[in-house]
Amino acid sequence: MPARKPSIGGNWKMNLDTAGVKELTSGLLKRIDTAATDAVDVTVFPPFPYLAPVAGAFCDAGSHIRVGAQDASAQPNGAFTGEVSLAMLKDVGVGTVLVGHSERRHVIGESDALVNEKVHAALEAGFEVVLAIGEKLEQKEAGQTMSINAGQVCLGLAGVSEGQMAKVTVAYEPVWAIGTGKTATPDDAQAAHAGVRKVIASMFGPEVADAVRVQYGGSMKPGNAKDLLAQTDIDGGLIGGAALKAEDFAAIVHAAR
Ligand code: PEP
Repeated sequence: MPARKPSIGGNWKMNLDTAGVKELTSGLLKRIDTAATDAVDVTVFPPFPYLAPVAGAFCDAGSHIRVGAQDASAQPNGAFTGEVSLAMLKDVGVGTVLVGHSERRHVIGESDALVNEKVHAALEAGFEVVLAIGEKLEQKEAGQTMSINAGQVCLGLAGVSEGQMAKVTVAYEPVWAIGTGKTATPDDAQAAHAGVRKVIASMFGPEVADAVRVQYGGSMKPGNAKDLLAQTDIDGGLIGGAALKAEDFAAIVHAAR
């Protein structure tokens, strides 16, 4: 089995302002050095207006912390008011796109078909893609975790080639754990991750499945990160609330080393 480099993402969602972004960015630069980014891929996902300044600050400091977008349009350009294109993101130094976050699926109403379109558009434009999946509380309670995850993986990655899978990370984020302070137990999270890897094996073969990184997301914090990250099939984390505090986010990055 290939060693998978851990991957930690920080989803800032629709939070912060110019001053807060500056403070968080400089706090990350102080705490996450190149020894850390040599051991762990670290990506932050600021809101659109702050992508360029954050990417610039990391670049000026010689940091290897990456900058990703929380979403992107599947359309190349044109009359799509309010949307942001992949070309624009590339132009301002963004190399990663988060697709299918639960808030986009369940609050904004994005379908699996749209998620799949975005995955294809981002991969064709050369981006790294983080595909977020995960079951809602009622689905967990109905014992549907594995089938919901399998469906979202199959539909989200339909038509993606084996080669393109080198640029895909899957984030398993049980919806009931996002922003709630509730976390999947390490055993439950491990079982879900192993299930996701099995689905990827059935779609793309065992080598792709062994290489693909599957992050856990859902109230990951410095206090629970180590136990979750110790699981065989958990290759990192996608962090929301704790990513807004440089100290907490850096502690999670260091726990992944
Ligand atoms: C997220 O939004 O992807 C997330 C995991 O949030 P939180 O860590 O706050 O649960």
